[in-house]
Amino acid sequence: MNSSYTHPKVGVDMLEFIAFDADDTLWHNEPHFCEAQEQFKRLMHRYLDDSYDGNHLYETEVRNLSHYGYGVKGFGLSMVETAIELTGGQISARDIRALVELTKEMLKAPVQPLPEVEAVLDELSGDYPLLLITKGDLLDQESKLLRSGLGEYFHHLEVVSEKDTHTYSRILRCHRIYPQEFLMVGNSLRSDILPVLELGAQAIHIPYPQTWAYEHIQLDDSKPKSYVQLESIAELPEWLEAQWSESSPVQDDRLSA
Ligand SMILES: [Mg+2]
Repeated sequence: MNSSYTHPKVGVDMLEFIAFDADDTLWHNEPHFCEAQEQFKRLMHRYLDDSYDGNHLYETEVRNLSHYGYGVKGFGLSMVETAIELTGGQISARDIRALVELTKEMLKAPVQPLPEVEAVLDELSGDYPLLLITKGDLLDQESKLLRSGLGEYFHHLEVVSEKDTHTYSRILRCHRIYPQEFLMVGNSLRSDILPVLELGAQAIHIPYPQTWAYEHIQLDDSKPKSYVQLESIAELPEWLEAQWSESSPVQDDRLSA
């Protein structure tokens, strides 16, 4: 593990730490939920007519966020609750069990990193301490990081209940990071980009083809973007290099372990 880093200096500002979101930034995640929703719909069609469109499940999920937080387990409980409601309590124990099994399958699904992720993390981890900031269930997120094989590139993992300005502010304070030294990379404008910009830090948005409805956010297109958008994580090293062409080695042992 690196104990110090050399990296380029940025005019008056200086980038010292890069943080990444995990789900749908480093590895595929949303497709697992989409597939589970389709399976849930198929099961519900045994009880209901074909008009069920999945909205009830989404509403239950959002309503339950304050109870279970984000992640697969809360999603599984929301499927069971929704199934009981939609069938008026008629769903069989066998089908409830099928939903529980579906939840367990999601929890052990293969973790498939997005293209170029490992190469980019490998390159950047030699120059910067990398943080992973993800929301969701602690056990599940730790397990996914382990299964992804990407854990060795990160100096610190933060699994948080919510990604808002309060959370990012706490993380920066905890690691003695000034906002202008901090860059967050993620696929969600709502969770990875806007709260970080609000603190005066930098953010790079890398959209993923599918986005959970809850993470959708409508921005005013008439205003210039205050963040950078890249097509792929593969573009990140080149983008960093272009921003900071003058190299000035800096020693920094924060986050070293
Ligand atoms: Mg994400």
